[in-house]
Amino acid sequence: MNWLLPRLAAGVLAMLAGGFLGYVASNVEHTVVWRVLAGGAIGVALAALLDTARGYRLIEWLRGSQEQQAPRDAGFWGELGYRVERSIRLREQGLAQERLRLEQFLSAIEASPNGVLILDAAEQIVWCNSVAADHFGLDPQRDRRQRVTNLVRSPAFVAYLQQERFAGEPVSFPNPRGDGTLSVLLRAYGEGMTLVLSQDITDRERQEAMRRDFVANVSHEIRTPLTVLAGFIETMGNVPLTEVERRRVLELMTQQTRRMQTLVSDLLTLAQLEGSPRPAADRWVPLAPLLAQVESDARALSGGRHVIEFAAPNGVEIAGAQSELLSAIHNLVGNAVRYTPEGGRIAVSWQPQADGSGVLGVTDTGVGIAREHLPRLTERFYRVDGSRSRDTGGTGLGLSIVKHVAQRHGAELQIDSEPGKGSRFRIVFPAVRVHAAGEGASAP
Ligand code: ADP
Repeated sequence: MNWLLPRLAAGVLAMLAGGFLGYVASNVEHTVVWRVLAGGAIGVALAALLDTARGYRLIEWLRGSQEQQAPRDAGFWGELGYRVERSIRLREQGLAQERLRLEQFLSAIEASPNGVLILDAAEQIVWCNSVAADHFGLDPQRDRRQRVTNLVRSPAFVAYLQQERFAGEPVSFPNPRGDGTLSVLLRAYGEGMTLVLSQDITDRERQEAMRRDFVANVSHEIRTPLTVLAGFIETMGNVPLTEVERRRVLELMTQQTRRMQTLVSDLLTLAQLEGSPRPAADRWVPLAPLLAQVESDARALSGGRHVIEFAAPNGVEIAGAQSELLSAIHNLVGNAVRYTPEGGRIAVSWQPQADGSGVLGVTDTGVGIAREHLPRLTERFYRVDGSRSRDTGGTGLGLSIVKHVAQRHGAELQIDSEPGKGSRFRIVFPAVRVHAAGEGASAP
């Protein structure tokens, strides 16, 4: 405002001067010259006033939010207003683009499956995505500017953060919720800034543990018959045997070899199930011939020791892989025979459901299974009674195969059992994979 008063004063003075000159001019000679001078002074005064008003309008616009257009005056002030406005608009556009780029960049990091946490030189949280917030139990807004070691206190993480330039491998430690494992990698950048990348490796660790257990189990299962075989071979090489002894040893060697063959065959079946695409949903397998095959195997395995009943479902077809379905039913019925004492009853049935789905049931009156074992039965090599399983030729992989086959056919394996009374295993096939007689089932 300090420029406004002098300019107004100058305008008023110019007008006074013009008036005074006009007054003098009316009383002296050479009136025309004086009148011209007076008119000029008044013109200068008016121009100064107009100029002041335009400058004032521009200043007022600059003081405001500049959302409106700058005053479009003619001349010097108009040009100045236009140029100032253009540079302001260009700067605003640049800022908007920068903001958009930053937002896009942050949403890309936000979409990352890994946690991203940025720390400043004082190890205070600058920013984190929601995955990192979840991993470390942070609140992205509330915990901003908090020192990270006050919130994430795992000794492994704190020690890693204190390392010089964070050399070496990522560190793993239990997540703050205590229900999994985090792997964290630190990288230094900029002026003392730190990038923290986190990954939930709970599943990976679980799978790794399962893989280790699996390899240990397979090795153990193969080593046992191999040790027996090696012992017999050594005996036969060193000790002269009678014909009866030789026959007995050969019989036992054959048993152990079969055991290994069955194990390798089950392992191959599992590997195939895991490594191949899901069975086609339009390849229809008639159920009756499958059950007939399983029935004759079951009767051979039972050797007449059990009452075996098969209710053949005429005209029922299941969409899937014949060999897989055969293997699954074979395993269930084989188990029923093996875990049912002499005189027991084994029944295999097909029950169509009202919604079009179908249930294949295998029921026995055998030894049954205690409730606590049920959730783990389908794990590989899980056995309720190891010696009984091995004695009857079990590999511990049968139910694992059944569960895989069921899953691959969109079906569910359900198990009910009571110790001492018997068990019921059911595979519930979804309606889309079941064709009953009279539904116009296509040829296999
Ligand atoms: P296995 O080769 O040992 O039979 P499975 O995977 O087929 O392996 O079965 C896992 C375990 O479940 C068996 O060791 C056995 O203890 C139990 N089991 C399976 N079927 C039956 C059944 N019909 N009756 C009682 N127990 C069973």
